[in-house]
Amino acid sequence: DATTSTTAGRRRRLVVLAGPTAVGKGTVAACVRDEHPEIWISVSVTTRSPRPGEVDGVHYHFVSPEEFDRLVAEGQMLEWAVVHGSNRYGTPRGPVDERLAAGIPALLEIDLQGARQVREAMPEALFVFLKPPSWDELVSRLVGRGTEDEAERERRLETARVELAAEDEFDVTIVNADVGHACAELVALIENPPDSVRAS
Ligand code: 5GP
Repeated sequence: DATTSTTAGRRRRLVVLAGPTAVGKGTVAACVRDEHPEIWISVSVTTRSPRPGEVDGVHYHFVSPEEFDRLVAEGQMLEWAVVHGSNRYGTPRGPVDERLAAGIPALLEIDLQGARQVREAMPEALFVFLKPPSWDELVSRLVGRGTEDEAERERRLETARVELAAEDEFDVTIVNADVGHACAELVALIENPPDSVRAS
C-alpha cells in the first residue's frame, strides 16, 4: 500500500553505486552531479595523489595515510577499502547521516568491498550494480583512459574480472552502454526507489 511504499522509499534514500573498475561509475556520477543538484553525492577520502584537474574537496578529500588512520580510528568512516593495491578510499559517515536525517537523497560511488560494508551497516539502502555492455568494451575503456601503466592496467583488469561476478549481490543492474541513459536510469531509481528487496 501507499504508506508502506513511502516508508520503503524513504529508507532507500541512500543509493550505493558500484561496479567493476573502468565501467564508468565516475562518469555516471558526474552526470548526476551536473544535472541533478538535488541529489547529494558523497565526497570520498583517499590517500592517492590527485590526478591533473582533480580538486581537493570536490572529487576527493586527499589526505595523508596518517590522516586516514586517524579518521578510521575515530570511527568517522562508514566504510573504507584498499583499492587496486595500495591506496585507501573511504566514505566519511557524518555527511551521509546528515543528508539522510534531512531527507535528502544521497549517492555513494564506491568499490565493491565498500558496497559490502555499507550493506552490513545499512541493509535498507538501494544497491545498484553498473555493468559494461561487454567485456571487450570494459577492456577498451580501461586502455583508452590512459591513466594507468601496463602493470596497473593488468591488475585492474584482474580485479574487474572478479568484480563482474558480484552482480547478483545487488538489487538492480544498470548496463552502461550510454552514459546519458545510465544516468537517467540511476536518477529514476534514486527518486523513485523500488520497494522490493533482493530475492536472496
Ligand atoms: P580512482 O582512483 O580511479 O578515482 O578510483 C578507484 C576506485 O576507488 C573506483 O573503483 C572507485 O569506485 C573507488 N572508490 C572511490 N571512492 C571510494 C570510497 O569512498 N570507498 C570505496 N570503498 N571505494 C571508493
